[in-house]
Amino acid sequence: MNAPKLKIALQKSGRLSDESNALLKKCGISFSNGLGKLRTEAANFPLEIYFLRDDDIPEYVADGVADIGIVGENVICEDRRAVETIEKLGFGRCRLSLAVPKNFEYESIKDFEGKRIATSYPNILREYFAKNDVVTEIHTISGSVEIAPSIGLADAVCDLVSSGSTLFTNGLKEVETVLSSEAVLIARENLDVTAREILGKLLFRIRSVKSAARNKYILLNAPDAKLDEIVALLPGIKSPTVMPLAASGWSSVHSVINENDFWEVVESLKNKGAEGILVLSIDQMIQ
Ligand code: ATP
Ligand code: MG
Repeated sequence: MNAPKLKIALQKSGRLSDESNALLKKCGISFSNGLGKLRTEAANFPLEIYFLRDDDIPEYVADGVADIGIVGENVICEDRRAVETIEKLGFGRCRLSLAVPKNFEYESIKDFEGKRIATSYPNILREYFAKNDVVTEIHTISGSVEIAPSIGLADAVCDLVSSGSTLFTNGLKEVETVLSSEAVLIARENLDVTAREILGKLLFRIRSVKSAARNKYILLNAPDAKLDEIVALLPGIKSPTVMPLAASGWSSVHSVINENDFWEVVESLKNKGAEGILVLSIDQMIQ
């Protein structure tokens, strides 16, 4: 009998595909994803991979055709199927926003009262307006939502935005954020023990990749006279590693710093006399 495998659904081709594939590969899982391939098996991890349209992923996971999947939170919120969100993945960031024609003198959400709004996200939008006590006419269309106002189909749109350039090109301006979204790992309910075990191993790797991405490895030379002050700037995982250099009066300091503090810390290190600062990216960080 074949060993049990966890089945994962990924977007076949679209905005989440490259990063979904790259995440698994960074987790050390190798598989081939040639064009047109809809199903594959990982060579070195008990994983079977299905490549699907993103809108179909919640349904496949809820029905148990796949055990887990990677999809945007926007799709999960709209779809409302019973799936569990296991982990935010930090890519595919976008927002679902309301936008109006540039010349619309927008003041508040009340301006949407009685307006026709085109969207592919009717459930999320209906709930948003209900919460804000605004009555609108929601028109559900499945694509090219942003042209609806210019062809007289709607007064406004509610669509996914990342930079906002598509809205701008279509003469629209973003006025309200309805939902913020990123890619998430979802799982079906009632995974059996074996599937949970494999998922646990996968999650451990995903979390290591994510924390590695948030951190940098830093090496520098510090004058001994300033060593204490320099070490104080670098918390490291426990504390920095300090080793004497061959040149007397200098030490080599190794540490890990968070990307959020990165530039400020580097600036302070330089001011304290640190030299030869090297910054390396980290592949995996096991915590
Ligand atoms: P499919 O053919 O799989 O149905 P699609 O055209 O519906 O693909 P994509 O445009 O590839 O979907 O977007 C996939 C997901 O990427 C979105 O659901 C959303 O979570 C995320 N995303 C990130 N940035 C954007 C953006 N600017 N516009 C649309 N989606 C974005
Ligand atoms: Mg889709």
